[in-house]
Amino acid sequence: MRLQARFLTTAADAAQFPPPQLPEVAFLGRSNVGKSTLLNSLLGQKLARTSGTPGRTRAANFFEVEGRILFVDLPGYGFAEAPKAVQRGWQKLIESYLLGRESLALCFVLLDARRGWMEPDLQLKEWLEHHHLPYAVVATKSDKLNRKEQNESLKAIRRHYPGGELFWFSGLTGQGVKEIWQTIWKRTTR
Ligand code: GDP
Repeated sequence: MRLQARFLTTAADAAQFPPPQLPEVAFLGRSNVGKSTLLNSLLGQKLARTSGTPGRTRAANFFEVEGRILFVDLPGYGFAEAPKAVQRGWQKLIESYLLGRESLALCFVLLDARRGWMEPDLQLKEWLEHHHLPYAVVATKSDKLNRKEQNESLKAIRRHYPGGELFWFSGLTGQGVKEIWQTIWKRTTR
């Protein structure tokens, strides 16, 4: 069955966020981590744009799913070559969304399975924990690892994240889609 999903709005700053009426699931990750691919796989359709130019100023995009949940695609961070002002712009937008968004039910932090935690991901993770924001981790592009590499990656990810929810995702094989949806429904159904 195909999901009912539609692009709702895009927001360059907090004033443009839609009213917080539905439970929201936010997606966070470094540029190029595979965020658009994950969103499109979850939605079963190409609604999120895969990034052409990493580092270009991006806004937060809101998608309404089944009239019951909003998916929030936050701008990719950590593109080292982006000008400092652009980096500060992303950070401000991400923080203004995450802090005090009463409808936020869950954040997904995306890591490239081959790279694991990188410095900006760890900073984000600490920041989320400091603010008591609920999050789960998705290791993306899992099809690029063989079993041995996946075991090593798992160990490396677990070193900084011993007990929390962790999903392997591949846009090629569809690995993880079902499990991620289960968690989304669980966290957004009251
Ligand atoms: P975003 O910048 O985080 O939105 O990343 P994209 O979804 O645009 O993906 C960045 C690049 O990684 C693209 O070239 C994708 O084709 C590739 N990619 C994303 N997800 C996967 C995956 O699960 N498997 C493989 N093999 N490639 C992927």
